[in-house]
Amino acid sequence: MFNKDELVRYSRHVSLEEFGEAGQLKLKQARVLCIGCGGLAATAVSYLAAAGVGCIGLVDDDVVDESNLQRQVLFKTSEIGQKKVKALAARIIELNPHVQVETYDTRLSDSNALELIEKFDITIDCTDNFYAKYLINDACFEAKKPFVYGSVFHFEGQASFFSGVDQPCLRCLFPAPPTAGMVPNCAEEGVLGVLPGLMGTIQAIEVIKYLSGLGDNLKGRLFFINTLTMSSQKFEFSPADSCPICQGKKTFHELERQGVQSCAANALSTISAKALSQIMDQVILIDVREDFERKICNIGGIFAPLSQFELAIKDLDRTKKVITYCKVGKRSQAALQILKEHGFKDVASLEGGILSWIDVIDPSLQRY
Ligand SMILES: [Zn+2]
Repeated sequence: MFNKDELVRYSRHVSLEEFGEAGQLKLKQARVLCIGCGGLAATAVSYLAAAGVGCIGLVDDDVVDESNLQRQVLFKTSEIGQKKVKALAARIIELNPHVQVETYDTRLSDSNALELIEKFDITIDCTDNFYAKYLINDACFEAKKPFVYGSVFHFEGQASFFSGVDQPCLRCLFPAPPTAGMVPNCAEEGVLGVLPGLMGTIQAIEVIKYLSGLGDNLKGRLFFINTLTMSSQKFEFSPADSCPICQGKKTFHELERQGVQSCAANALSTISAKALSQIMDQVILIDVREDFERKICNIGGIFAPLSQFELAIKDLDRTKKVITYCKVGKRSQAALQILKEHGFKDVASLEGGILSWIDVIDPSLQRY
């Protein structure tokens, strides 16, 4: 149970009727693994430590860099060059000496992911690349352990909860790794410094709700926020028929995991929203986004997410002009590369994506 110091420390939790001492005890008995010790972890881990989670595991092989300090607020200027797990562990102990910390100064890989995830009750994905996100998803479903997904890009954040047992999984939501333009999180990409703090806080809430059994988690729902407009939405998504995890077609070791290829997408030809609107009926238009995005808004055309792109373009007329579009114009650039490899000559992607179309041509469409 709790000693007197702990009861004072956690009194605001204990006095919550729905939480009480029983809820606090569940946190104390829990082991939470945080993979990635950057901007998402800064707040996720702070709040989990402050909340009294019994044991927190930290996985990262990186050192603190000056460019991290704009958002990774637990690190100090004097810690530049130090191992992140070491600096973060020190911060947790300062914050709450009742928390036990386990540090893993390593990069998550195919060979250590399962072993690490199996040691903990729940994992928080605080990573910044899609290879690691798939790896966490695959290992959690293999180990039947839940995880909380989070990601940030420019001014937008996303979060979701995956049970590790029931469908859907991250591969249902993103069947192929999004290329730059959706959730690439490359170090080279910009991000509003406060945004990972916001999303990490949401991840901590999901972990605490899961451990204490309170509320509804984000299972099967993607929480999305645009901080420029302060609009937030929850998109429901379903298990994908073709998902290798949910359909049990492949084991952890058989699954293929690809990373984001490159942040600097090869610049290929683009067309403005205005120019496209004038030749719309003369071209083959292809929407390369995911199903949940198409449901929010679309400007017609063939629906061919990047994951099924090659199949969808097989029978198209190679003599016609083909225009691809996505949300902001980066995945549609990646699609151009595939079109070129398949012998299409006259191709372009919609510059600025459907968001530009909404700005310039049709403001009545729903932004996201
Ligand atoms: Zn799945």
